[in-house]
Amino acid sequence: MRKPIIAGNWKMNKTIKEAVELVKDIKSGDRDDNVEAVLCVPFTNLMEVKREIEGTNIKLGAQNMHWEDSGAFTGEISPLMLKEIGIDYVIIGHSERRQYFNETDETVNKKVKTALKYDINPIVCVGETLEERESGKEKEVVKAQVLKALEDIEEKDIESIVIAYEPIWAIGTGKTASNKDANDIISFIRETIGNKYSKDISEKIRIQYGGSVKPANISELMDESDIDGALVGGASLKSEDFLKLINF
Ligand code: 13P
Repeated sequence: MRKPIIAGNWKMNKTIKEAVELVKDIKSGDRDDNVEAVLCVPFTNLMEVKREIEGTNIKLGAQNMHWEDSGAFTGEISPLMLKEIGIDYVIIGHSERRQYFNETDETVNKKVKTALKYDINPIVCVGETLEERESGKEKEVVKAQVLKALEDIEEKDIESIVIAYEPIWAIGTGKTASNKDANDIISFIRETIGNKYSKDISEKIRIQYGGSVKPANISELMDESDIDGALVGGASLKSEDFLKLINF
């Protein structure tokens, strides 16, 4: 059985002080042990949040990473730097990074390979724009993103990867894909991975949905056959909402 994974993507929110307060509140709430809870926080918060979650089952994630170990890449953060802090996950290829920072399927693939090399679990984001969905191209777009992200990745590594299907039109808009539409694309992603590797491995990889997930819609999304979790922006910034999400 695939363990559900609910990850909060704080995006560019929370100072260190605010982050510590939020994590203290999350820590003090009841948490379902059968659900993996991950906090993907800004780089500046990683050390303090790591200290705060010590001894709990909460996992830590970064929101981006460079693919090189070191070098002349002003403003970038390397896998070695993140490894030293002890992160468990890294979000790769979020649509905001693709849209505003020119990330491409090629750089996503490089970053996924680097994350795997350092035993950091990548959360690989894919998803179509509104225009692509309206012209019926969502499956084509998502399939190409998934296949490119996984190019030259061996079957033995697939289980360490989490895929997040985040339709761009549903991010921060209050518009959630219907459960059925989200499950339809997610099972299509699973089938795509099954065709490239094997059915067995496709049944093991976890695939999340992201885009306006909130306490009011999490349980119906999680009831679907292929949705294994959620990547949550806005609703992960308040402890009471995040606790409801991880206890769906
Ligand atoms: P919202 O939950 O705020 O729509 O953001 C989704 C997202 O982009 C998570 O990575």
